[in-house]
Amino acid sequence: MSSPDTREIVETRRTSSLSPRPLLLSGPEAKCDPASANSAGADPAGGHSIEDRYSRQVLFPGIGLAGQRTLAAARVAIVGCGATGAASANLLARAGVGEITLIDRDFVEESNLQRQVLFDEADALAALPKAEAARRKISLFNSSIQVHARVADLVPANIHELLRGAQMVLDGTDNFETRYLVNDYAIEQNVPWIYAAALGGYAATMNILPGQTGCLACLFPQPPAGAIDTCDTAGILNTAVNLAASLQATEALKFLVGDHKNMRRTLLAMDLWSNDRSELPNSAPRTGCTVCGRREFVHLRGEGRPHITLCGRNSVQIHEHHRPVDFAAMQRRLEPHGTVRHNQMLLRFQRGEHTITLFADGRALVQGTTDAAVARSLYARFIGS
Ligand SMILES: [Zn+2]
Repeated sequence: MSSPDTREIVETRRTSSLSPRPLLLSGPEAKCDPASANSAGADPAGGHSIEDRYSRQVLFPGIGLAGQRTLAAARVAIVGCGATGAASANLLARAGVGEITLIDRDFVEESNLQRQVLFDEADALAALPKAEAARRKISLFNSSIQVHARVADLVPANIHELLRGAQMVLDGTDNFETRYLVNDYAIEQNVPWIYAAALGGYAATMNILPGQTGCLACLFPQPPAGAIDTCDTAGILNTAVNLAASLQATEALKFLVGDHKNMRRTLLAMDLWSNDRSELPNSAPRTGCTVCGRREFVHLRGEGRPHITLCGRNSVQIHEHHRPVDFAAMQRRLEPHGTVRHNQMLLRFQRGEHTITLFADGRALVQGTTDAAVARSLYARFIGS
């Protein structure tokens, strides 16, 4: 591969008088020049007009200038901003969605960087919460939109507050407990959501439009039982992540600009490695569905929800202590027992093979064990009940 500044770029450009033709260009001047495509409507003050910034998207007939203005006023919540969530956040932020709320309970680690497009090595070193790291990264490439970072575990007690005002919800989670909770909320509040998942080389996604399509419980009445693969056990290709996010973000754009008839009414799954592809129809609610038919929202009511969650990558989450934490005082208390540091959003305490990460609301992630009893013991010993 030649370096970026010397490589030749072949671009196909349509002009008003010529049929499509390839242009062979080299060097930095080969980059697209927004001004050349959009002399009418350009903002002489600095190119921050919608017409300028999103000119290539405005040219796309499915969006147009009216659609772009609609996107600027749109409000989306993304639950989980690790792999799929960050990729979708990246796409929607660049596409000009005006207000994006990112909800994530986790922090950036080095092993995330292979696939989680909004984070870098400095974020991993600083163990920044993903929602905040993503917000900062987005602000570097699109300062004209609003991004809210919510460092939180989405649970029945906070879901109405965290998702309030969002026109639609995008699934960027890695677990079914949260997805069934979001599904309950979406049907209760009549808010569409888009399921997306990536695992191994596989990507899957489905639109849930309350009253028009089936919901998650229509297709799968119960969450999967027993041990299920996660990206920590089955591995994951970043290409599968980006495919799931591209499909999800495009469907979100269709919804937000009002092109509901072009939204897919299937559960679509693709394996990028084997090229297997399947689609399951989801064109109407299922008669007798407990959620969208009988409106029984057991997940919103928090029934059966464990206080301790096995996180799949050698860690256990404890979220029974919702109370503010004084990190400075906690650091002084823990210093004799191991390595401890904190920032405004979290405290990390390392002792032997175990690391406890404590978040501001009192939630803790115990790494180095999958044994809930060990985690509970470490928590009780060092953090206190
Ligand atoms: Zn249903």
